[in-house]
Amino acid sequence: MVERDCPPAPGGALPSEGATRRRLISVAATLLVLPVIPRLAQAATILAVRTWPADEYTRVTLELDSELKAEHFTLENPHRLVVDIEGLTLSPALNDLVSKVRPDDPYIQSLRVAQNRPNVVRMVFDLKQAVAPQVFTLKPVADYQYRLVLDLYPKIAQDPLVAILNKQSGPDVDDPLARILEDIQRNPVTRQDAPEPPLARGQQPAPALPTPPKPSAPSTAGRKRRMLTIALDPGHGGEDPGAIGNSGLREKDVVLRIARRLKSLIDSQPDMRAYLTRDDDYFVPLHVRVQKARRVRADLFISIHADAWIKPSANGSSVFALSQRGASSAQARWMADKENAADLIGGVNLGSHDRQVAKVLLDLSTTAQINDSLKVGSAFLDEIKKINRLHKNSVEQAGFAVLKAPDIPSILVETAFISNPQEEALLRSTSHQEKLAQAMMTGIQRYFTANPPLARIADAAG
Ligand SMILES: [Zn+2]
Repeated sequence: MVERDCPPAPGGALPSEGATRRRLISVAATLLVLPVIPRLAQAATILAVRTWPADEYTRVTLELDSELKAEHFTLENPHRLVVDIEGLTLSPALNDLVSKVRPDDPYIQSLRVAQNRPNVVRMVFDLKQAVAPQVFTLKPVADYQYRLVLDLYPKIAQDPLVAILNKQSGPDVDDPLARILEDIQRNPVTRQDAPEPPLARGQQPAPALPTPPKPSAPSTAGRKRRMLTIALDPGHGGEDPGAIGNSGLREKDVVLRIARRLKSLIDSQPDMRAYLTRDDDYFVPLHVRVQKARRVRADLFISIHADAWIKPSANGSSVFALSQRGASSAQARWMADKENAADLIGGVNLGSHDRQVAKVLLDLSTTAQINDSLKVGSAFLDEIKKINRLHKNSVEQAGFAVLKAPDIPSILVETAFISNPQEEALLRSTSHQEKLAQAMMTGIQRYFTANPPLARIADAAG
């Protein structure tokens, strides 16, 4: 895709430097001018076609020079999705889409494209399974022109917890995920990690009574600490590349690599398991990342990013927590706006999700969550400073949408500046990726050692 050396201009929060302001204004001006250019009444031109196949859903994107109307319906026996696009004639680019369907696409078997009527192109997707499609359009943003997006979701959505358990099923008998599933299945109401009832003030803990020896079941009763779930959130993905370095390194790729390394370190701990909010190159809306972490009842949420700034000299790692209001610096606010723009760039069908749920998630942020997040963030900074200089010595705070789970300590790590050539080279190297993962692993352990996890209200309530 087109290289971008400047993140999209966020609304209202321009940094103070003159050069930056000029650059941002010129980007904004370009975006404003485009729709004003008079268009001839002719068929739209397809600029690009892309597919993003993933287990979770497959996205097909048509990028066009004007907005188009599309209608769709599904057929059964065999499963097909038919999309009629008005104002379009067949073109080599559209035929190109047929060759972009990958054999391992979980949803699309094959694709046929034909001129159905004058001015209407019909696309027929032969499917591998029944889908619940979402078809929507996106207006120009960042490097993109008008987009027609077809998201093919499975008709029966996979539970994320079941999904990670399925992936882990295998000969490994000591698999922590299998154990968790076992626990849940064996005792769905009273989790064995349910808390002791709190002692009343002045009450002494009851003396341990001698109990008759029980036959030792292969249970998890002897474990000192409950299984901790760490949600790892590699930023961006799919349509949204994130920031792009000078040599072409894409944020979405490098953060996924780092997250996978950290996942394997976490999974090798006896009492921890990691869950990735995305484990491939596809876009996940910000609120969905939060929902996924809550769905697996994560004890910690770590969003992994790589920073970008207009000046290539900017460098160093940063860690962010949510701010209750405002931001700890103008740059922090600007960063948050930049990362929050992911939904615009990656493309979210705003009509499709439960706005109420999203609003609750966005509105709620408890002081406790932020305090815990600041502690995690400090532990991370202490470790990361051993392998890279810090951009700021303390945890910064800003309104990142992805940090707004009200009940999960959540931090966002900007691992380095991908816009800085030296740091881009570091990010590209596998040894530095591993060092970053190790530093974050140690940070996680330090946090949980200093702040032993409490059983949660949800656990107590069953
Ligand atoms: Zn990012």
